[in-house]
Amino acid sequence: MKAIIYEGAEQITVREIPKPQPSEGWALVKVSHAGICGTDLNIYAGTHPRAKAPLVMGHEFSGELESDNVPGVPRGSRVTVYPLLSCGHCEPCRSGNAHVCNDLKLLGIDCDGGFAEYVQVPVESVIPLADNVSNKMGALVEPVAVCVHALRERGFQPGDNALVFGCGAIGLSTALALRVFGASFVLIMENDEYRANLARSMGFEVISSTGLDMDAYCKSRTGGNGFDWVMDCAGVQSVADALLDAVKVHGHIVVIASYKKPASMPFIKGMFKEITIEFVRVYRLKDFAIAAKIVANDPNFEKIITHVLPVSEAQKGFDLMTTRGSGAIKVMYSFD
Ligand SMILES: [Zn+2]
Ligand SMILES: [Zn+2]
Repeated sequence: MKAIIYEGAEQITVREIPKPQPSEGWALVKVSHAGICGTDLNIYAGTHPRAKAPLVMGHEFSGELESDNVPGVPRGSRVTVYPLLSCGHCEPCRSGNAHVCNDLKLLGIDCDGGFAEYVQVPVESVIPLADNVSNKMGALVEPVAVCVHALRERGFQPGDNALVFGCGAIGLSTALALRVFGASFVLIMENDEYRANLARSMGFEVISSTGLDMDAYCKSRTGGNGFDWVMDCAGVQSVADALLDAVKVHGHIVVIASYKKPASMPFIKGMFKEITIEFVRVYRLKDFAIAAKIVANDPNFEKIITHVLPVSEAQKGFDLMTTRGSGAIKVMYSFD
């Protein structure tokens, strides 16, 4: 079968490899669409701490089930896949938090994933797609699940307002999820005009943070208090500097972005507001199932997918994602 292979730092090839032969408890999926994630960019850069070449990357994908050993999901069903591999016996796993397993592994990072014509996956990880979710949207469920998890895990309440930093796939998905979850007001901060305009086309108010007095501005937009929820979907120092100015007393700061470098924060401001900073990682199975439903309910989710490329353009996918101003937000490969 054809696969996109990570061969080493900044080196990918498209070549033939043997089709996986699933062992007991695993099922075969014929891949339709697979998205490039920030994590794949880390692997590509050669900086991911666990991924080892040669590797078939890809943990955001959809396809057709080719096995008949998945309870309740007939062979031929269109599916997406929950890509987490938890050990099942560590303390987090045994206390209902398998998504933050002490030894968490993922398809496409720790073993071969979805950037290939076929992938093998644990039977319990197969999630059927509803008829109104296309294969393309099925591959977007994974990043949306990250955002659904952030809101559910941290107790977002309908009617709360929120500020979202960053308009990448995660920022846009978070803003859309906030709307689905009943936010009374969602404001986005993004300095890239192309990305800001895309968010505006989804009906969001977007402003640039350049030169803004963050504290005064956020108070002016929230009746003098600051935001109930401040979602960091950017992961850069300038945003870390602003989070504590944007949030209200006892409000929530949720860091969804994965910071590439250590960041500093003006902790004294956190003390004055008695703030708890919250972090989230991936998703629970339930978040994933919810994301698989909501991607179909709002056509705006589709706008996040800016490029769908054939496998032959594997390199172009990574070039788009690593070039500033390319206009790429979510780039997918189609194996159909
Ligand atoms: Zn991802
Ligand atoms: Zn575990």
